[in-house]
Amino acid sequence: MNPKKSPNLRNLLLALTLCSGAASAQPPAQVKTQAPGYFRLAVGDYEVTALYDGYNDLSPTLLKGMDPSKIRALLARRAQDAAGVQTAFNAFLINTGEHLILVDTGAGRCIGETAGMLSANIKAAGYQPEQIDTILLTHLHLDHVCGLVDGNHQPIFANATVYAAKAEADFWLNSDMKNVPEAAREYFKIAQDSTQPYIAVGRFKTFAPGESPIAEVKVAAEPGHTPGSTTYQFTSKGQSILFMGDLIHNLAVQFDHPEVSISFDVNAQQAIDSRAKVFSQVADDKIWAAAAHLPFPGIGHIGKIDKHFQWVPVEYGPYQRAANVPLVK
Ligand SMILES: [Zn+2]
Repeated sequence: MNPKKSPNLRNLLLALTLCSGAASAQPPAQVKTQAPGYFRLAVGDYEVTALYDGYNDLSPTLLKGMDPSKIRALLARRAQDAAGVQTAFNAFLINTGEHLILVDTGAGRCIGETAGMLSANIKAAGYQPEQIDTILLTHLHLDHVCGLVDGNHQPIFANATVYAAKAEADFWLNSDMKNVPEAAREYFKIAQDSTQPYIAVGRFKTFAPGESPIAEVKVAAEPGHTPGSTTYQFTSKGQSILFMGDLIHNLAVQFDHPEVSISFDVNAQQAIDSRAKVFSQVADDKIWAAAAHLPFPGIGHIGKIDKHFQWVPVEYGPYQRAANVPLVK
């Protein structure tokens, strides 16, 4: 029988061919790569992009001011590993329409192969490092400044002016190294090496208390973690986001117990006071908060119950929430 002369038989043969083909096909190969490390959120007319630089594992023994067994119990409640807590390095890009601003620059080449992804994720998010005109540093620890330079100590952000609080720059860049303990000198040197290429060409600037590097940002000194730790707040059309740097390192412990400090704090009590104050402000004002070391994208709201706080992470969704969302009653 000639199949071309019999449509029904031809269809049957075709179906059999497809069936046998499906049965013998290889299953699709696994992709095995992560999705790009960026997340976008509209804050009024401002566009905020969270950028993932990488992570390291922090030992909970770095947390101070609470019995270790209680810290372990708080970690267990959040299924965090008492041996080491995966801790993100987040940076944030704000496009105000006037300026393209980067808050912090990640750990760059200072941590190892688990970090240094910032430039790749800036590009994945649709921008180029040279388009950034303003960099705001929350402080000058290595996991915030190393991303300023490449492996040859050349500036990655060729057209950006870098800003930090004067108190922060004075501490890390201008301290008499003879008075710095031997064990801490490396951290001072990294801050100096990372900022030097910008200082050399006049593109590193400091601001005094009450001053603002650019018109769009409200600056507040929140010392403790470091002497010049700074928060940056952007507000547009009644919406606001506060970039709070290293006011928190551990999700499971320090929201519930803001009185727990971390060994990296230069002045633990000051850091505790700054944390509680800023958490209260964010909770009372119902604004967005963004943190360098909370799970990516590190953006969310803060709830408050007495002296305790809760982190409410931002939910993935459209860039701008639709005006008419169906309400199920
Ligand atoms: Zn940090």
